[in-house]
Amino acid sequence: MSLIVQKYGGSSVADATAIKRVAKRIAEAKRAGDDVVVVVSAMGDTTDELLELANEISPLPPLREMDILLTAGERISMSLLAMAIANLGVEAQSFTGQQAGVITDDVHGRARIIDVKASRIRQALDSGAVAIVAGFQGVTEHTNDVTTLGRGGSDTTAVAIAAAIGADVCEIYTDVDGVFTADPRIVPSARKIDRISYEEMLDMAASGAKVLMLRCVEYARRNGVRIHVRSSFSGREGTLVTDEHADAQEEGQMEQPIISGVAHDRTEAKVTVVGVPDVPGTAAQIFEVVAGADVNIDMIVQNVSAASTGLTDISFTLPATDGQKATAALQAVQGSIGFDSLQYDDTIGKLSLVGAGMKSHPGISAKLFGALRDAGINIEMISTSEIRVSVITRSDQLDDAVRAVHTAFDLDSSDGEAVVYGGTGR
Ligand code: ASP
Ligand code: MG
Repeated sequence: MSLIVQKYGGSSVADATAIKRVAKRIAEAKRAGDDVVVVVSAMGDTTDELLELANEISPLPPLREMDILLTAGERISMSLLAMAIANLGVEAQSFTGQQAGVITDDVHGRARIIDVKASRIRQALDSGAVAIVAGFQGVTEHTNDVTTLGRGGSDTTAVAIAAAIGADVCEIYTDVDGVFTADPRIVPSARKIDRISYEEMLDMAASGAKVLMLRCVEYARRNGVRIHVRSSFSGREGTLVTDEHADAQEEGQMEQPIISGVAHDRTEAKVTVVGVPDVPGTAAQIFEVVAGADVNIDMIVQNVSAASTGLTDISFTLPATDGQKATAALQAVQGSIGFDSLQYDDTIGKLSLVGAGMKSHPGISAKLFGALRDAGINIEMISTSEIRVSVITRSDQLDDAVRAVHTAFDLDSSDGEAVVYGGTGR
């Protein structure tokens, strides 16, 4: 008998039929003798629809109210799922994030889980019931305000609960068979990865791979939670995210793949500060202003200054949703910093090649740039880490870039196309 947490994403519970199908899966696990805690996302694109509805009412809805609104999505799916399971003769009880004891900080819209007081979940399990928990939500410690964990946050709920109750595994059910070497929606020949380390999965998630939320992977690594990413539409084994094999690889018992995958991201924009005086302190000033606007930046490039003018250009990328905030903050200090102008471009895309094995392999960047050259794709910015190389391209060339790089690194699968079972990829 094991203790398992199963998380079902929006596309796995998109309508009544889907909910009944998932209920069957859960009932089977329970009947097989396992203790099961289920974390569920909102049905289909409900969260997006609620966001759109709020924006029709107000251009800048108060974040506290937004959180209360958005948590309604998961409450709908959790209760319907509990009913569907009960219908199959298995006892089930649903809980909101608050009831489940998910305590967060008070940053509305992207709260962090600081504790899980899982006594209510344990009681449900002890009484023989399946516990269903609304994902993506929690409550602040002192004010009891409802919070949400940021888009895709149900993954984090699942991992946090798995850590709190000491689950044997946290199964993340989605609409593809696991973590792939690239998004199968763009690269049908992408290959399923059987095992991946936390470190590599972190870089894939940070680089735009949407299959797991970044914070959930961080949480899993910190608490040693084994994650099994798999499809709710098939019985296939998915991808195991764990360091068990990475340790074996370090000790030389297993061969380490050089590249784990190619991730892409279309959510960033590029700001260029044109004509910046090339004297000590200006970069500090620029990025202090951006940080002061509470904007996280990603890549930075500074050009050589022209000898004749002593001026240089600095470009950086940031989430496109923060573009307005950052440019407004910079415009306000144009006079005091003394730059010429600002350019804003949200038609960029980012491609990242990730792999722990690249630490010890020369020539990875050269091969990547060669593949892009052969595909006629221009590189606008480059950044690297020990296990990742990222480039910025035009957004409309990104899909071609991902396919070209995937092929160049021999990642294409030889046994047929990857299956995308459902979902809108939103
Ligand atoms: N329903 C939320 C979202 O769409 C949380 C989740 O799906 O994990 O972002
Ligand atoms: Mg979702």
